[in-house]
Amino acid sequence: MKNENLQNQNTQIINETLIYDALKAKRSDAGAVREILAKALELKGLDYNDIPVLANISSPDLLDELFRAARKVKEEIYGRRLVIFAPMYISNLCGNECLYCAFRARNKSIHRRALTQEEIANETRILIDQGHKRILLVAGEAYPKEGLDYILESIATVYATRHDKGEIRRINVNIAPLDADEFRRLKDCKIGTYQLFQETYHLETYKKMHVAGKKKDYFWRITAMDRALKAGIEDVGIGVLFGLFDWRFEILALMQHIRHLEKTWGIGPHTISVPRLEPALGSSIAEQPPQAVSDLDFRKIVAILRLAVPYTGIIMSTRETPEMRRETFALGVSQISAGSRTNPGGYGSEDEDSSQFSLGDHRPLDDVIRDVAQLGYVPSFCTGCYRLGRTGMDFMDMARPGDIRHHCDPNAASTFMEYLVDYASDATREVGERLIARFIDEMDERDARRTQALVARVVDGERDVYC
Ligand code: SAM
Ligand code: SF4
Repeated sequence: MKNENLQNQNTQIINETLIYDALKAKRSDAGAVREILAKALELKGLDYNDIPVLANISSPDLLDELFRAARKVKEEIYGRRLVIFAPMYISNLCGNECLYCAFRARNKSIHRRALTQEEIANETRILIDQGHKRILLVAGEAYPKEGLDYILESIATVYATRHDKGEIRRINVNIAPLDADEFRRLKDCKIGTYQLFQETYHLETYKKMHVAGKKKDYFWRITAMDRALKAGIEDVGIGVLFGLFDWRFEILALMQHIRHLEKTWGIGPHTISVPRLEPALGSSIAEQPPQAVSDLDFRKIVAILRLAVPYTGIIMSTRETPEMRRETFALGVSQISAGSRTNPGGYGSEDEDSSQFSLGDHRPLDDVIRDVAQLGYVPSFCTGCYRLGRTGMDFMDMARPGDIRHHCDPNAASTFMEYLVDYASDATREVGERLIARFIDEMDERDARRTQALVARVVDGERDVYC
C-alpha cells in the first residue's frame, strides 16, 4: 500500500496534526492545572485538550497535586483491589522484524520453540499450583503449521486442564491481529480480553521499527480492535510500548484511539497496558530506547491515564521493578502480572535464552501477594464479570456509576481467601486474613454482609464462588 494511502486511512483514527497542535498550545500554569484536576475528581474523565496541560507539569507542587488526584480517583473506583494474572508464552516463533523484540525473525541469539499441547498443559498445571486463575496467553506471529488452530487448541488445552485444587478460569489473549472471521473463532473459544498494543501510534516511527513481516502494516494493526469488536469480542485491551517515541504524543494518540472506539462501537477499551521498553537479547533498540521514558514521566503517564479514563483497567507487568510497581498501584494501576516468565515453557524450565525481554520483578507469586497485601491492597483472582456476561457495554454501564465495586469487592475477598487457604505460605496467609477482616470492616453494611457470606463459603470448602 502506498504511504499516502496509509496516512489517509490512519487519519480516520489518529490525526497527527491535531496532536501536534494540542501539544504546542498548552500552558501548565497552576490555575489551569487545578481546574482540570478538580474536574477529574468528579470521575468524568479528561477532555483531550486537558492532557497536554497535565503532561507539561514540571513544578513539584503541581506534580504532587496531580499524583494526589490520581490516587483519589483510583481509590474511589477501584478501592483496594488489584487483579492478579500471569502471562503464558506458548511460542516465540515470529515472522516479523520488530527491532525492539528478541522474538524478531532474524534474531539468531534465542532458542525458538512452540510448546506442544502437552507442554502447555504442563505450564498450566504449574500456574494452577501457584494459585493463578487468570492468564494472558502470548505468542509471536508465526504459529506452527496449524496456524490459528494452534492458538485455539492451546486455549482449549488450558481451559481443560484441572489440577489438584484449581483451574484457570479466564484466558486473555495477546496475539497478532486477525481478520473478522478469525476473531469470531477466537471469541467462540471463550477468551476474556483480546489485547494488542499499537506499540507506537506515530506512523513514521512505526515504519522504522517494523521493517519486515505482516506487522509492517500500521493500518492493519490499528484497525484490529474494530474487527475484534465487530466479531463480538467485547473486552479489548490496548497499549503503547513506551520508549519508541515521545510519550506525550503517544497518550494523546491513545486517547484518539479510545474516542474512535467509543464513537464507533459505544465501548472503550477494557484495559490499557503501559509497557516500557526493556532490554531484549539481540536488540540494540531495546538496550537504548530512542525516547526513553524517565521514572517520573512514567508515573505521570499512569496518573494522567487514570484521570482521563477512570473506569478502564490499567495493567502493569513485571517489566517494572517492585518499587515502581508499588508506586504506580497507588496512582492508578488496577491489574498486575506476578511471578512471570516471558519464554515459552518458562514456568517448567530455566531456558532464559528464549525470553522476550528481561524482567524487573523476579519474585514468586506468594512474595508479590504478601507484599501487595502488606501495602493494604487486596489481591483479586476474580473472573466473575466475564463469566456472568458482564462485558463490554454491560460492564461500562455498571462501572460508570461505580456500581461494579459491589461485585468486585466481595469477589476480590472471596477469591483472595481461596488463594490464602489453598496456596499461600503461612506468612502470607496471616497477613492476608488480617487484611480481609479489615477490608470487610470498612465496607458498608450490605457489602460487608455479602462479602462475609462469600468468604465463609470458601472457608467451608466451596470453591469458585462469586456474585
Ligand atoms: N506478537 C504479537 C504482537 O507483537 O502483537 C503479540 C505478542 S508480543 C510478544 C507482546 C508485546 O510485547 C508487544 O506488543 C510489545 O509491546 C511487547 N514487547 C516486545 N519487545 C519488548 C521489549 N523489549 N520490552 C518490553 N516489551 C516488549
Ligand atoms: Fe514478533 Fe510480537 Fe516480537 Fe514483533 S513484538 S517480533 S510480532 S513477537
